[in-house]
Amino acid sequence: MHDAQRRALLDIALTMAGRGWFVFPIMPGRKWPPAWHREERCPGRGPCGAGHVVPETLATTDPEVIERVWSREPYNVAVYPGKSGLHVIDCDVRKPAEPAGPDGWDELQALAARRGGPLPEAWTTTTPTGGRQLWYATPPGCRLPCTVKHIAPHVDTRGWGGYALAPGSVRQDGAYELFDDTDPPELPGWLVQASLKTLSTAASGRKKKPVAAPTAYVARAVQGEAERVRAAPSGQRNRALSTAAYALGQLVGAELLDVAHARAELQAAVTAWNTPESMTKDFGVIDTSLRAGSRNPRRVTGKAA
Ligand SMILES: [Zn+2]
Repeated sequence: MHDAQRRALLDIALTMAGRGWFVFPIMPGRKWPPAWHREERCPGRGPCGAGHVVPETLATTDPEVIERVWSREPYNVAVYPGKSGLHVIDCDVRKPAEPAGPDGWDELQALAARRGGPLPEAWTTTTPTGGRQLWYATPPGCRLPCTVKHIAPHVDTRGWGGYALAPGSVRQDGAYELFDDTDPPELPGWLVQASLKTLSTAASGRKKKPVAAPTAYVARAVQGEAERVRAAPSGQRNRALSTAAYALGQLVGAELLDVAHARAELQAAVTAWNTPESMTKDFGVIDTSLRAGSRNPRRVTGKAA
């Protein structure tokens, strides 16, 4: 039994690595801790010869290393999303002691509806307690942290510094299972923005009533502007970004577009060409130009509105 389980978990680790996802062993039958010493017990040898290294650094896609590690114990399989180009949205269920109400999955769907979505079908796993974890690909150049109950109640995110257990990992109370085998789609812009802890709170100018889901016309305008930003050659990026943000700001001013949605799409677009440092500057350009545009609302007639 022990050996069959060990082989099954080895297969899972190899499968994850085969997708280009970085894995590390977790103590058998548990979700914590990783099978590695803590910093205060660092022997200063081996991989830690030049200073303590953490499991995220050691997480690997190398099949030889994986074979060797999982030949010893039926370790559960952690995938490190940040390193693997993934971002995992972790929707919890309410604990039995909590009062009845929406669980994380309901909260996430409600948030998607408020932000104008979309919430694309993702590679999805279920947890032993009935939670669900949605695995998305991060946009290129985008470095997302972990968050706890930041984007919505009962919803955590796993990016750099965190891990998620691969389906097939087992705990005493059950197993993590694959629920939807869709290839991870790119994390939508509004979820990128929601997952950024410090850059997502810039004020949007005067307080307006929230705008419902955008019309098809407005949705196309948003996609078009975001596309122009993504495609801008390096010497013209600043100008392309302020032009696009101004144009979308005009739709915000006309109350046809939610400012959070516009900002999220533009922020996602600039992450395609940016480093985390320059992102701060570009996010400033986005907010300034959105505000400027919203003071000059676009007049839209007929079906568009
Ligand atoms: Zn160490």
